[in-house]
Amino acid sequence: MTSLVLRDWLTTNSDPLEPFRILAETLPQLVWTARPNGELEFVNRRWIEYTGLDVDEAQTGIWKSLIHPEDYMESNAHWLHSLKHATPLETQNRFLGRNGQYRWFLVRAEPLLDSNGQPVMWFGTCTDIHNERSEQHRLRDRCQTIVENANDGVLEVSLDGTIQFANRRMAELLGCPADELVGRSALDFLFEEEQRRARIRLEARREGHGERYEARWRRADGSEIWMHTASTPKYDANGEIIGSFGIFTDIHALKLAERIARQHQAALTLSEGRFRAAVDAVGGLLWTNSSEGLMQGEQPGWAAFTGQTYDEYQGYGWAKAVHPEDVQPSIESWKKAVAHQSTYIFEHRLLRHDGIYRFFAVRAVPVLNEDGTIREWVGVHVDITEQRDAEQALRVSEEKFRLIADTMPQIVWSTRPDGYHDYFNKRWYEYTGMPLPHEPGGEYDPNESGQGWNWKEYLHPDDYQPSVQRWQESLRTGELYTIEYRFRRTDGVYRWFIGRALPLKDAHGHITRWFGTCTDVEDVKAAENALRDADRRKDNFLATLAHELRNPLAPIRSATELLKLTSIDDPVIDEIRDAIDRQVTHMVRLIDDLLDISRITNGKLQLRHEPVILQQVLQSAIETSMPLITAGQHQLNIQTVKEPIPLVGDPVRLAQIFSNLLTNAAKYSEPNGAISVIVNRFDHEVCVIVRDHGIGIPPHHLPRLFEMFSQVQSAVDRSQGGLGIGLSLVRALVEHHDGTVEAHSLGLGTGSEFTVRLPIRQHDVPVPMTVTTLAQPIAKQTVPTTRRILVVDDSPTIARMLSMLLTTKGHEVETASNGEEALYALQSNTYDLVLMDIGMPIMNGYEAAKRARASGIQIPMVALTGFGREEDKLAATQAGFNTHLIKPISSQSLDQVLAQLN
Ligand code: ADP
Repeated sequence: MTSLVLRDWLTTNSDPLEPFRILAETLPQLVWTARPNGELEFVNRRWIEYTGLDVDEAQTGIWKSLIHPEDYMESNAHWLHSLKHATPLETQNRFLGRNGQYRWFLVRAEPLLDSNGQPVMWFGTCTDIHNERSEQHRLRDRCQTIVENANDGVLEVSLDGTIQFANRRMAELLGCPADELVGRSALDFLFEEEQRRARIRLEARREGHGERYEARWRRADGSEIWMHTASTPKYDANGEIIGSFGIFTDIHALKLAERIARQHQAALTLSEGRFRAAVDAVGGLLWTNSSEGLMQGEQPGWAAFTGQTYDEYQGYGWAKAVHPEDVQPSIESWKKAVAHQSTYIFEHRLLRHDGIYRFFAVRAVPVLNEDGTIREWVGVHVDITEQRDAEQALRVSEEKFRLIADTMPQIVWSTRPDGYHDYFNKRWYEYTGMPLPHEPGGEYDPNESGQGWNWKEYLHPDDYQPSVQRWQESLRTGELYTIEYRFRRTDGVYRWFIGRALPLKDAHGHITRWFGTCTDVEDVKAAENALRDADRRKDNFLATLAHELRNPLAPIRSATELLKLTSIDDPVIDEIRDAIDRQVTHMVRLIDDLLDISRITNGKLQLRHEPVILQQVLQSAIETSMPLITAGQHQLNIQTVKEPIPLVGDPVRLAQIFSNLLTNAAKYSEPNGAISVIVNRFDHEVCVIVRDHGIGIPPHHLPRLFEMFSQVQSAVDRSQGGLGIGLSLVRALVEHHDGTVEAHSLGLGTGSEFTVRLPIRQHDVPVPMTVTTLAQPIAKQTVPTTRRILVVDDSPTIARMLSMLLTTKGHEVETASNGEEALYALQSNTYDLVLMDIGMPIMNGYEAAKRARASGIQIPMVALTGFGREEDKLAATQAGFNTHLIKPISSQSLDQVLAQLN
């Protein structure tokens, strides 16, 4: 508009600018004109007054020197833009006044255009706005200071959420410098799940709605921050909404606290739930009462169990569900607990909804407020009916146990796993005289007599240490406790007992109790001792008997030997002599058997272990039993193998096994019986069968046949002086040689069969020809040399017979009747051999031998004795005898002794 008016005006005036200049001088502004290139052409007086410069001085670049350096860039940019596009200019900048001060001016310029639209010149004005502008700036600065120093973040965003301004605090909150925030979208600083909500908020803002909200923002480093935002719309000059301002408050700590509180709440709820579940699980009822002890509010557990309605159980209504007998004490004790604010512990019966009473253990505790006052009571009812029933059953069974224990003749006791005695039956108190504990089955009192370890005081002092040690050992290992000890009776007498105890274990094998008994074995022990004494006496008796029996046999034997040597050609005498000889041999064997049995039962049998050949053993056995076989006119049939069968053992004892069997076969067969010995060799053992066709053995006798003194009645009539020990000797000897023996018979009249099995033991040792008293046939043996022999015996008959026998054999004999005489004879004469009895008056054989040896007498001395025990032989050797011979001495043994002198 302005441009057109000017153009019109210019075309009608010769100096078209004159009126303008006049006008310009009247204006309060600084007025100027410039050429189309911007060069100043005219300035008014006001301009010159202000700047102190004339137009001639206003050369190119003048603007730069006038405009404040901070404003120049912007103003110049506007000016260049207007010049280029011939558009009006409007800018604000400070101009330097002649007084050296800058003032703010509003600069405006309008181009004067030609018909082509090209600027012909520029009209410009600079209006002093310094005062207004300063005021504005002050305001803005104040505002800015407030915003910059605010404790809250301030954010200015456009409608699409682009950040246009952020204060220092906002930059802190988002962890990003303020100038970097500008231009970015505020949405960038929100977590994904928040962005959707933020978009909705932005939309709402277009409508001009302010709002307050809390959101989780994402700081530049990715960490989270909770902020509260109050936002208000931002309007432009026309009242259009162009964005919003937001005030951001940091509520992060608050939120965290809130979250923790929520978690706590959740945990609380959970633990309460757990508590309820636990109470349910143990069959309990959970309930709460008011601080005054009244049941108030919903009690679901209580209602479910009792079937009481809400109204029924309120206050003290619950007591109606309690068993009538328990009501009064329950209420009283409840009131007391409430009054004292102490834990309520009680047991009572509660009526279940189905009309059945159950036993409950009740516990209630007061829950306190922070100030210590009672907030409420929390109680639990736990069903203990089963437990009570079990306790009851236990009591009954315990009573039963006590009753049984008290009727037993033994002392019965029990202890805890650690060995602490907590129970004794009546018998213990009766025996020891200890006072009875007050209440059987009641709680035990450690000071009570008999409890704990007091029992030890009643032990015999000698048994104390081993008993306690053994008991503690059992406690440690859990092994059966068994011991013999003496306990003091109430009258002070000690009696023997057998103590036994066993541990009772639970399902896990842990010991829960020990149960023990003490059985009085004093009488049994006495009987045992008596028996042992009797046994010992029996053994001694047997040994003495054998000795005494042998003594009279000695001269008989010598006499028969003598008869054999003296030639009397009378068949009758020969027969009598042989009969006597047979009977003596038989009696000697009986006596030997008796001694052997006593040795075996006492474990004193000593066996030799040497290489032997079975066939030789059998040969020896057959020779021994031959007289009896011949006497019975039996047929002996022997089936054996050619190869020698090697064994290891005692040749005499092995022969004894078979001779005993053969003797029995002969004894228990009718005359003219057939007897067989059958040898079968196997890899590792040999089997010898001794078979007869005699009277046989009834089957029921077979199992006990090998026991000592076992005899079949019918056989006894037939037996020829048997003692019933032959077979037991056979079994003992076979077993001593690691073998077995069996008897077979189909019954009476069917004959018998004895099978002996012995292990074969290979050996290369040449088998010595063993001399056995049993096996050697009676044979004459000539001893060429004449010996001087001293016979010492207190029995004149024995001495005489022996002397006669030796004289007959061609020796010179002298006699002495006791040890003293013998010593005298030995000192005054020389002998080749001494045959000396042991048991003699004045001085016995041992003593005489000892003294003889002590005085340097070297000649061989042979002990002749009726005692054939091992200890007797040993005693003889120790006394100084070279050999020990058992009476009655056979001619053959004499010959052997004499032969050894060569
Ligand atoms: P004894 O023959 O001295 O009585 P034994 O111990 O040798 O004692 O035998 C015990 C018993 O076994 C004999 O009394 C006899 O009854 C029976 N007996 C032993 N051997 C035979 C046998 N061959 N035939 C029948 N009975 C026998």
